[in-house]
Amino acid sequence: MSFTSLGLPPALIKALENQNYSEPFPIQKEAIPAILNKKDVLGIAETGSGKTASYVLPILMNMQGNTANKNRHINVLVLVPTRELAAQVREVFQMFNSALPERIKSLAVFGGVAISPQMIALQGVQILVATPGRLLELVELKAVHLSNIDTLVLDEADKMLNLGFKIEINRIFELLPKKRQNLLFSATLSDDVTNINQILFNDPIVIKIEPEVINIDLITQSAYTVTEEKKGPLLRYLIKNNEQKQVLVFVSSIFRAETVTDKLKKNGINAIAIHSKKSQKARTEALSNFKAGKVQVLVATDLISRGIDIKFLPCVINYELPRSPKDYIHRIGRTGRAESPGEAISLISPIEQHHFKVIQKKMGKQVSQINSEDLDLKGL
Ligand code: AMP
Repeated sequence: MSFTSLGLPPALIKALENQNYSEPFPIQKEAIPAILNKKDVLGIAETGSGKTASYVLPILMNMQGNTANKNRHINVLVLVPTRELAAQVREVFQMFNSALPERIKSLAVFGGVAISPQMIALQGVQILVATPGRLLELVELKAVHLSNIDTLVLDEADKMLNLGFKIEINRIFELLPKKRQNLLFSATLSDDVTNINQILFNDPIVIKIEPEVINIDLITQSAYTVTEEKKGPLLRYLIKNNEQKQVLVFVSSIFRAETVTDKLKKNGINAIAIHSKKSQKARTEALSNFKAGKVQVLVATDLISRGIDIKFLPCVINYELPRSPKDYIHRIGRTGRAESPGEAISLISPIEQHHFKVIQKKMGKQVSQINSEDLDLKGL
């Protein structure tokens, strides 16, 4: 499924591509059409699931052609627990709005900083991302009015309640018009969140995204110390000598995916690249050929490091390390699935050593390292 089939226009698709959003995440597949249809949505999904874009994109679409904004009467209110999330969500609104013809003014407000610049900046704002306490202060000062709101979003609702914002949230609800669209996102469905659901919703679309569980104990991890120039021969050695039937190789760029694949093919290894510059059709084909066992080696960027389930994949090789420890876990989690053991091998050049230490620390597991100079890579 593509973003186009979810009803988003070409200008937004282009902006999504620029952000390397090549395919919608599961929450986006379900939430975007529902929100475009003006339904209430209750999304149980963690940070990292792509929940922000799942409401930002359809809200911006629904606001196209609706620029009416009485002074200081906002149209969309997004309540968030922290200043960091407020700033982050506002950034996503701004980024995708810049791809659309209609200029929609958005602003993030939160406590702990001076209030008067926020009061001034609220002029003409249509989308306000706010922490509850500061919002109420601004309402009190008549710097913002909530009576024209047509969409309310509660993001990380469980965290908001854990941080003790319950009274503020209920007070805010009282100030909102009765008729509006309600969207609530929460990692968990606690009793408090359930209570809010009952106040807010009228027959919502419920979307539950189970967090992916990766059991790293099922994965045998090892690493080879190797110079950058020897990574190619070492990769071929590992594929040939270990008689790996199927290997998923992760690289850090599109360029590298292409060059590594070319080199493997020149050496008689059946390999194919998958990355965001390939067409959707080519990607689907590459993946299904790999899944069907018609291709021995799939060389991929992090495009497919999350969520893709390849049954009984025996081996993942990190030709280059990913940027974040989280991505490392997601990459190696492509193997060792469905309770079947797997193997993850990382090729570590001298400049990657420090980063690999950080990854191991975050993962809470030491990975033994083998010196590739002890191997016979001649002729590879
Ligand atoms: P969120 O759960 O909204 O905090 O998003 C988690 C991360 O995933 C953010 O860095 C987003 O930029 C990224 N992201 C969201 N949707 C997609 C997508 N469809 N494809 C690739 N990255 C995405």
